[in-house]
Amino acid sequence: MKFLKYYFPFLFVMIGLAAILHFVWLPYYVDTEIESILTHEKEKTRLLSDTVIPAMLSGDLAEIHTTLDNVVEKNPAWSAVVLQKLDGTQLYPLSKIELSQSDASNIVKHSLIYQEQELGNIQVQTDLESLIAPKVEKLQHLELLVLVSSFLIVMVGVFLQNRFIHLPLKKLSIATSRIAEGDFLTPLPQSSNTVLSKFVENFNHMRNDLESRDVQLMRQQTIQDAVHNMQSKFLTVQDTGAVYCDMLDTLLELSQSEFGLIGEVKYDVDNQLCMKVLVVTNIAWDLPSRNMFEAVIKGDLTFTDIDNLFCRALITGKVEINNNPESELLKMDLPAGHPEIRNYVGIPQYNGKQQLTGMVALANTKKAYSDASISELNIIWNAIGNLIDAFHRKELLSESEAHLRAIVDNAVDGIIVIDSNGTVLTFNPAAEDIFGYNENEVINESIKILMPPMYAEHYGANLSSYLSTVKSQLIGSSREMVGQRKNGEEFFMEVSVAEVRTGTIRHFTGIVRDITERKEQESQLIAVQEILSENNEQLLGLSIKDGLTGIANRRCFDETLEAEIKRAIRHQSSISLILFDIDHFKLYNDHYGHVEGDECLTKLANLVSEIFNRDGDLVARYGGEEFAVILPLTNESIAIKFAEVIREKIVEAAIPHEKSPTASYVSVSLGVATLDVGEFSTGSELVDLADKALYRAKSEGRNQVYSKEMSLMTAKLH
Ligand code: GH3
Ligand code: MG
Ligand code: MG
Repeated sequence: MKFLKYYFPFLFVMIGLAAILHFVWLPYYVDTEIESILTHEKEKTRLLSDTVIPAMLSGDLAEIHTTLDNVVEKNPAWSAVVLQKLDGTQLYPLSKIELSQSDASNIVKHSLIYQEQELGNIQVQTDLESLIAPKVEKLQHLELLVLVSSFLIVMVGVFLQNRFIHLPLKKLSIATSRIAEGDFLTPLPQSSNTVLSKFVENFNHMRNDLESRDVQLMRQQTIQDAVHNMQSKFLTVQDTGAVYCDMLDTLLELSQSEFGLIGEVKYDVDNQLCMKVLVVTNIAWDLPSRNMFEAVIKGDLTFTDIDNLFCRALITGKVEINNNPESELLKMDLPAGHPEIRNYVGIPQYNGKQQLTGMVALANTKKAYSDASISELNIIWNAIGNLIDAFHRKELLSESEAHLRAIVDNAVDGIIVIDSNGTVLTFNPAAEDIFGYNENEVINESIKILMPPMYAEHYGANLSSYLSTVKSQLIGSSREMVGQRKNGEEFFMEVSVAEVRTGTIRHFTGIVRDITERKEQESQLIAVQEILSENNEQLLGLSIKDGLTGIANRRCFDETLEAEIKRAIRHQSSISLILFDIDHFKLYNDHYGHVEGDECLTKLANLVSEIFNRDGDLVARYGGEEFAVILPLTNESIAIKFAEVIREKIVEAAIPHEKSPTASYVSVSLGVATLDVGEFSTGSELVDLADKALYRAKSEGRNQVYSKEMSLMTAKLH
């Protein structure tokens, strides 16, 4: 308010005025007034003297008294009038009075002079108080008026301040604190203050805006909750019909409609578009309509004829709104008893790939359907379009699942599916037979219960190591493992594992076969094979080894000698043969016994075998107490040296032979025969040569070496 800016100056002026009035003008006025009264009184006194003088001169005292009484009466303010002659004689009033000279201010004294001769004087005492009081009173009233006015002005000011400053400020403060607190519930009251009214207007505008947004948000939230609810029901509720019923209820509530229907797009045998009714509002009014409703519940109501206004949305693929109760659609031939349809909307439903999956029809909303009211529910339409599709797929999937289940259930092999934690998800009847567990006892349990404790301990580590690496030996190939039946019995099983990945979910399918029987057969077979091979070995050994000494037998010697001679001829190399015979062994046997004789033979065979480690060299028992050494790639001189080594080693062994005429220990005589490079011969010829040399050694005194061409090679040691 503009005038408020003059308020305080005005108030100060008024207060200043009152102060001036009171402190300056009032005393001045009183003084001036007194002066004026006194002047007036003087004048009146002078005039009175003019009246009194003739009476004084005439000495008419009565006249004087009458005049003065008259005058006193007319001047009530005159408290006293004294007339006295020059000599001091008081002529009036009758009683002598002395005027108080102490308060001379109110006494007017006038000398009565007649023809320049003073006759006396007249003194008039005026009651100034009574004369001034009314005037002062008026002034005081004025002062009061000013003060009251000031007070009123202050009050008005306070009121105006309150009205135009404080209240708006208070409203402003409330409004700002409400803004700060986010409280926009109540609108602010209108204000006459222009600035504030603008603010209030803005605030209320903002509030309304926020309120409508809030309402919109709430609505969006409700819609989103509805979508969420639909989707979670899809995942958790098994009964598809119940999910659709719930879906329709939600739609009716959100669109404030009375009736509704959800249909799925189908194609008949002729590939003609038709609509399967998934759910419809229960508006049964008679038996046929009830039957129809029940058909919907059973899932077998399909509209094959969709070429009508009701299903137009399916044909056009667009939202079809009809709010005109007089329209063809709404007046269409509804069955008798069908409630009136006032308005209607058909909304086509699409999946994520923009394929038409179904249709929603709603009717009898409170006001009317509009593009806005339908597009507001867009996320619901998206959800429904996808859910119809998903339900359809789920149905197909459950069919194929059932098919798969049948395969699994009837499989001959055990089929076990586990997740990445090793929890059993599937356990088919064949697996039940193998492990002796019931499906219910294993499902959701760890696979470890099917393993012996020893394997189970490592299982966790194995699986996690598999998951952390790309490949496992187990995956993809079948492998023999040990399983454990419910009764604790361990058994062999053949397991082939396949990994199935669905997104990030990993499942492992194991096909298990009980191979206990096969394993038993296998082990029996292995046992038989082992026996056979042992026998074979024995047989083989028997054929090439000498039974007593364990060195090569005569047969082996003959075969080897023939083969080595052929090789020597082929490779143009030499080959030697040492043949040796125990001296006087008959005597040994006779003296020590046959068993000792056998031991002696074995001892000598071992001693000689130790000398020849080279590949190809062969020490053999030629027969009786005769031995032979085949030395391929060996010429005669080296062979003689080897023969000497044999002889010496046997001598060094010092096996006592008390009865021997040759020595007191066992000795041998050796014959050496060599087939030199380029010579041709046979085994028997070489043996013959060696035998001859041996015979020579014997005949020359035994315990010595002879070759076919050499004379005595070594002297007898003893
Ligand atoms: P020498 O060769 O020095 O002329 O005299 P000898 O006594 O060794 O010769 P003889 O051919 O007369 O005797 C061979 C003996 O060897 C006869 C037999 O009792 C013994 N003999 C042969 N084969 C075996 C055998 O396998 N075990 C035992 N204990 N003795 C055997
Ligand atoms: Mg002999
Ligand atoms: Mg002998």
